[in-house]
Amino acid sequence: MPEKVIIIGSGPAGLTAAIYAARANLSPLLFEGFQSGGIPGGQLMITGLVENFPGFKNGISGQHLMAEMREQALNFGVRFIMEDVESISLNTSPFSLISTSGDAYEAQSVIIATGATAQRLPIHSEPIFWGRGISACAVCDGALPIFRDKPLAVIGGGDSAVEEAMHLTKFGSKVYLIHRRDELRASRIMQKRATTHPKIEILWNKTVEYFFGDKLLEGLHLKDTVTGELSTIRVSGAFEAIGHRPNTGFLNNQLPVDDKGYLITKPGSTVTSIDGVFAAGDVKDSHYRQAITAAGSGCMAALEVEWWLQNKFE
Ligand code: NAP
Repeated sequence: MPEKVIIIGSGPAGLTAAIYAARANLSPLLFEGFQSGGIPGGQLMITGLVENFPGFKNGISGQHLMAEMREQALNFGVRFIMEDVESISLNTSPFSLISTSGDAYEAQSVIIATGATAQRLPIHSEPIFWGRGISACAVCDGALPIFRDKPLAVIGGGDSAVEEAMHLTKFGSKVYLIHRRDELRASRIMQKRATTHPKIEILWNKTVEYFFGDKLLEGLHLKDTVTGELSTIRVSGAFEAIGHRPNTGFLNNQLPVDDKGYLITKPGSTVTSIDGVFAAGDVKDSHYRQAITAAGSGCMAALEVEWWLQNKFE
């Protein structure tokens, strides 16, 4: 018997969809992922304090929030598989999926909630120092001894970059925030935090030319985007926070995407161009990309699946 609904992804979108689908007696099966596209639980697992998820007046850590959501889904009987979906056929009915271990699954409907992954700087020297001073997660790596009381850098100008920089002030002696323009993309409140923090120095209009060091990262060569002037800063850590790309590789181009690679859904819904396939959360949202909007679209996807199954099979 095919599953009524398979949910792919275990961030706020996938888990909210799972909670709603379970409560609608759809007995959802959820692939929470393993390696592809980040760790199970999604990007909140590598976020510090989440201050803007309603219901937690003092904030809640991203990991704690995801653990609570997962527990809530388990309590309603959601079945979890800690594997990636390696491939999926959306031109069959029911849809068929193959997981990392090679097991095959079938589903009448699918909710894709695979989120997005941090982008890496396309610089020749970057992979050399990846894990040797370069990271894309201050919350995961910031407390490592190699960063303690050392000057550090964050690259990017969005909310993530400021959040990373703020987090790193707890460990580093100083944090450079390197941004390619003269204005941060981050929200006003985050901008204020960055510009007023005594340990954060913003280097405006700068891009990284290359990373240097011996065994570990020792510094960055920078280029001024206005004057072209070159400069050097010495840092022991560089944290990339330059945005994300949606996790759609396993779909093998079976669904249309927008110019940034995000899945396209019918406006105001989670309905994709294939009947019975729904998309929720950051994999289809390059605009809001908040935990609460992802959760909201996960809820929409589960409701739309429920209505779709009723129309189709009852
Ligand atoms: P983002 O808003 O897309 O910002 C990416 C930043 O990286 C931009 O400042 C961009 O510069 C810069 N950048 C991109 N490619 C670059 C390159 N090759 N070299 C140098 N710089 C580069 O991404 P984000 O900060 O990850 O945020 C994503 C979404 O999550 C946003 O909606 C944000 O509000 C949300 N978020 C919210 C919170 C919160 O509310 N606490 C925390 C984290 C994230 P330009 O500005 O010049 O384009």
